[in-house]
Amino acid sequence: MDRLTTTAAGTLFGLHGEPAHERIVLATDAASGLQAIVAVYSTARGPAFGGCRYWQYASDHEAYNDALRLSQGMAFKNALADLPFGGGKAVILRSPAALDRAALFKAFGRLVQSLEGIYITAEDVGTTADDMRAVQGETRYVSGIPRANDVYGGNPSPRTAYGVFVGLLAAVEAALGRTTLDGVSVAVQGLGSVGWDLCERLHQAGAQLIVSDIDAGKTALAQQRFNARVVATAEITGVEADVFAPCALGGSITESVAAQCRFKVVAGGANNQLISLAEGDVLHRRGIFYAPDFLVNAGGIISCVREYEGSGEEQAVLAEVAKIGPRVFELAERVKATGVAPARAAVAWAREKMVAC
Ligand code: NAD
Repeated sequence: MDRLTTTAAGTLFGLHGEPAHERIVLATDAASGLQAIVAVYSTARGPAFGGCRYWQYASDHEAYNDALRLSQGMAFKNALADLPFGGGKAVILRSPAALDRAALFKAFGRLVQSLEGIYITAEDVGTTADDMRAVQGETRYVSGIPRANDVYGGNPSPRTAYGVFVGLLAAVEAALGRTTLDGVSVAVQGLGSVGWDLCERLHQAGAQLIVSDIDAGKTALAQQRFNARVVATAEITGVEADVFAPCALGGSITESVAAQCRFKVVAGGANNQLISLAEGDVLHRRGIFYAPDFLVNAGGIISCVREYEGSGEEQAVLAEVAKIGPRVFELAERVKATGVAPARAAVAWAREKMVAC
């Protein structure tokens, strides 16, 4: 079996110690330059639904590993959000060479179409609604596209941010017994589509913000707009704050961050915040409540699913996203009852739900 090991975290067929992925497709298209990985973790609840990341990776292994972890996270996310879909994710390897973007995403659309509906795509980091429009030219298995005539649809990020806000509020109440965010300090890592919208909501709710981003323009604006304290990207995990909200890429909670951070709650939008479940155990032992990413950042996929089904309506979608709050309370109860760390408790809960529905 050693020969099958491809990455630090996984094998050719899946992540170490976890049930294997159902399907992993590697595809290239010479004409457009497409190099893509589609990972389908589970279709037990229905077709695998999850976004497409367009990113320049340090290595093919890193991209592969990302696809494996992200698709597993989508299966947990969709199950906990009670959506009738399984989990999958696509990764397009971004080349330093200038490519025809529309041609690239059309080629990706043909790849999605070739999977005959076992995988449905949408935006993720690095992709836009315009990219999804190009995909839509080739397949109907796509969501996250603005529609005409008041038909529900479009960029899911505001719904994601709303869900993270609701989940963060619930986590603060469950862990600290505080029912408002007035005066609560929140360190936000990443001021992109989700992080910025979250900051707007936190600021309105009276939270004190500490922010970091690799883009100095965004942090300067946050300082001005939210009276936020700006810290360097390397420093955000070391600041003292009630809450840490990772909203950049994954992997913020490393072994040393878990062991040393001075937060009371971790709740944010980024996928795969923990390097592994072991970091979640360390946070738990230190009395830090971790609201799992795949529980609190489900607002975007809820939006994409309702758009895809043609059943979306703004208020109904927001009401569905707001259910993230009660789920965080239920998780806190499970943690209390079992003594198991929130990340592991949430995985177990998701697995209970990863059955036909
Ligand atoms: P985005 O690309 O709009 O924003 C990411 C931000 O993080 C950018 O401002 C970028 O400059 C910043 N950043 C990158 N590296 C950083 C670092 N080391 N330190 C600080 N800032 C850094 O992406 P997004 O759509 O806001 O998504 C953010 C996270 O949320 C991602 O992990 C994504 O997978 C996850 N997520 C997003 C959605 C959604 O609807 N957009 C849904 C679910 C999960």
